[in-house]
Amino acid sequence: MTGLASTTFILVINSGSSSVKFSLFGGHLFSDELLSGLAERLGTPEAVLTWQASAGKQRESLDGGDHSAALSAIAKRLEADYGAPFAIGHRVVHGGEAFTESVLIDAGVIAGIEACASLAPLHNPPALLGIRALQSLYPQVPQVAVFDTAFHQTLAPEAFLYAVPKDWYTNLGVRRYGFHGTSHRYVAGEAVQRLALDPNDHGVISAHLGNGCSATAVKNGRAVDTTMGLTPLEGLVMGTRSGDVDPGLHAYLADRLGWSLAQINDALNRQSGLLGLSGLSNDMRTLIEAADAGNADAELAIDVFCFRLARKIGGLAMSLSRLDALVFTGGIGENAAPIRSRVLAHLGVLGFECDEAANLKPGEHVRITRADSTAALVIPTREEFMIAQDTQRLTQR
Ligand code: ADP
Repeated sequence: MTGLASTTFILVINSGSSSVKFSLFGGHLFSDELLSGLAERLGTPEAVLTWQASAGKQRESLDGGDHSAALSAIAKRLEADYGAPFAIGHRVVHGGEAFTESVLIDAGVIAGIEACASLAPLHNPPALLGIRALQSLYPQVPQVAVFDTAFHQTLAPEAFLYAVPKDWYTNLGVRRYGFHGTSHRYVAGEAVQRLALDPNDHGVISAHLGNGCSATAVKNGRAVDTTMGLTPLEGLVMGTRSGDVDPGLHAYLADRLGWSLAQINDALNRQSGLLGLSGLSNDMRTLIEAADAGNADAELAIDVFCFRLARKIGGLAMSLSRLDALVFTGGIGENAAPIRSRVLAHLGVLGFECDEAANLKPGEHVRITRADSTAALVIPTREEFMIAQDTQRLTQR
């Protein structure tokens, strides 16, 4: 071990189906990100671990390694420079109705995450692999689970129920859960602080626009409505996901094309959204460039994306008693000025007027609307930081 070994740090883990992202937080109140990295293409001969440290980017082949091999390699790397973690925080996508906030992991929590796996079959199992691998590597180190769904558990039944036979909810868990909760919680909280809003009397709408997109209405610090539902397919137009469609579409496609439900589900998740409409790309930056160069389908995809987002924001506003701010975050929300400008142009009825100069360079000022407009802000999301903060809070002795 080097001289850095006495540093105390929190390790944040985000396990996907074939990848593990990790970051280290240390310093005052564990708020500084010391290091981050990614193990990807797990289970294939190309499996590789890359990490970004102050010395620059580093790379190590994992040669067919799985989640457990990746986490062992990460632990070995960390041991060399930092020692063992003080605590470990895991992102877990689905906490169902069992988890309304972040929790210290024990056998009951593991069973609870397993029980939610049927609601998130691609996401919860890899999170469990990560938890178990780190439990065996560091049996004495406390671990915390932070759920994407937890922040939305404050939704009232009128906002989370679908109008379908009630026993689908009671027997099968069919309801709206919402996702990206850690991001919405962070940016809405930041908006309240930056605008010095009354903690007990405010209304904020956060729009997390990345490859997946969702928006959430937050009233007095609690989520009251959100655009994603039973799965992350509902709601806004996304990179490759359709967002809302007529539920009758499935029967229509099955009838006209003879497609199976699995084919239809796959097409709505992977071939739709910005990619499906443009026929070009799921990547907003590519579409903006193509639209600027005269590509009509790229322009159309952007138009639909912006209009549908504005329409959802209008709907979310109905769950608030006042609207103090709209927050843009995620790769598109943080970087795509033309998208923010178009969305705000649709929202004049809610009192928004874009300050085009500020929108081009939100920088430190974050506010992108005129002084007499309802506030719209750009706030970079910090999901890993939030996981580290929850982990610190729950493990502090
Ligand atoms: P993920 O949801 O996978 O974390 P991100 O939050 O990184 O994704 O968002 C990815 C999206 O952000 C992509 O559509 C990408 O094109 C878009 N994006 C990133 N930078 C820019 C930019 N400068 N201009 C427009 N879009 C951008």
